[in-house]
Amino acid sequence: MVKEEQIEAIVREVLRRIDREDIKLNEDKHQLGVFDKMEDAIEAAKDAFEKFSNMTLEDRERFISEIRKATLENARVLAEMGVKETGMGKVEHKVLKHQLVAKKTPGTEDLKTQAWSGDKGLTLVEMAPFGVIGAITPSTNPSETIICNSIGMIAAGNAVVFSPHPGAKRVSNFAVDMINRAIIKAGGPENLVVSIKEPSINTTNAMIKHPDVKLLVATGGPEIVKIVLSSGKKAIGAGAGNPPVVVDETADIKKAAKDIIDGCTFDNNLPCIAEKEVIAVERIYRDLLDEILKQGVYKLNALQISKLENLVLMDGKLNKKLVGKDAKVILDQIGINVSDDIRCIICETDEDHPFVMEELMMPILPIVKAKNIDDAIRIAVKAEKNNRHTAHIHSKNIDNITRYAKAINTTILVKNAPSYAGIGFGGEGFTTFTIAGPTGEGLTSARTFTRMRRCVLADGLRII
Ligand code: NAD
Repeated sequence: MVKEEQIEAIVREVLRRIDREDIKLNEDKHQLGVFDKMEDAIEAAKDAFEKFSNMTLEDRERFISEIRKATLENARVLAEMGVKETGMGKVEHKVLKHQLVAKKTPGTEDLKTQAWSGDKGLTLVEMAPFGVIGAITPSTNPSETIICNSIGMIAAGNAVVFSPHPGAKRVSNFAVDMINRAIIKAGGPENLVVSIKEPSINTTNAMIKHPDVKLLVATGGPEIVKIVLSSGKKAIGAGAGNPPVVVDETADIKKAAKDIIDGCTFDNNLPCIAEKEVIAVERIYRDLLDEILKQGVYKLNALQISKLENLVLMDGKLNKKLVGKDAKVILDQIGINVSDDIRCIICETDEDHPFVMEELMMPILPIVKAKNIDDAIRIAVKAEKNNRHTAHIHSKNIDNITRYAKAINTTILVKNAPSYAGIGFGGEGFTTFTIAGPTGEGLTSARTFTRMRRCVLADGLRII
């Protein structure tokens, strides 16, 4: 007799193999919207934009709804491909990220018309498309960003050409193909979203310079943000962060410890909004550390911290091979063996330690002791480095929260929750994977990708 557990194991294995087969099949197919040459991709997107311009808001919404459906159906395939190709992050968390994008990225409802009516008639300001947008996407949330940008840019009436990170080109182009199939299924034009097979610095530069690309959107590190901002075109820059989390003596310490480790370890710390360093006031420092130590973490001693520093920041440069890796894998490289349930590496450091000041994007969390809230705010502001990106606080003191918020001046501030609440996961509000701090658009959505057009009718249509 075959036992029930054996049957379950067989079913699981068959489903796993079917999943793999799906990935293979879709990758072998001709990928829609994926071109050999950047010139051809842009030309195709331009043609698609012209067709799209004659379509209605209802059409846009229908295409978007099909993209949402396809994303939900492919969430696991995309998550597995992303982890496999980039070697970064966690499949289960990437599934959640794709589901979040599918459900909470705003569509056409985000577009608002302004109107003035008075003695001199009626004036409207409407949110119009730019045309073809050039979007540069990261390796850390590759397909999530492509799907999120596509929904927002299409909702605003644009076509989009992507220049994905070369290290994530397979999953990125899989997403581009999926989006095209969804749009075509819903009766839309081909190539509203395009990309190229072999993205590189050269192809990105060609896209940036192309006269038919009217708006640039860069999601990535400081280098690419600087490049698009020097392009002479309208550009939206979503750059690096290094989010500090402050904990004061009024916080719910148990909850703060759990929230911090949940946020910090989500997708192995890849999200730019994730907790990167903790600054705790002296009065609760020990209690917080004790609670954090109950969260499936491994705390290093001073010697081990210095070993880890040599590994992670070799000659002061970030060791990219360790970005997004499991805590266990990182620890193994400094000769420490731990079980699979260890999800974070804890280091007690001073405020100037490189683990505090550098954006590591790995499940390594430095904890710094501050004398009081003023001292904690000072250290956090220094660690955030004026990125104006994201910061967190655990506190029940409104004055402390307000002072921190004013001083740190970030685009996102999360209070008493894990970092991902800031992008609508376990918190109110819409989601985005492009947070434009440097250029000030904030959490981008459809309206970000529009240009304002005024239409004036003098001496008429005021009907009162
Ligand atoms: P990255 O800067 O290495 O790459 C991002 C994109 O820029 C890629 O497409 C890459 O090919 C391109 N690029 C980089 N340098 C270039 C150059 N010199 N010329 C042409 N193209 C270039 O970033 P990453 O490692 O993929 O992603 C992580 C970084 O992105 C982190 O700093 C993270 O904070 C940031 N990020 C920010 C946001 C946000 O919304 N603000 C979101 C995700 C990631």
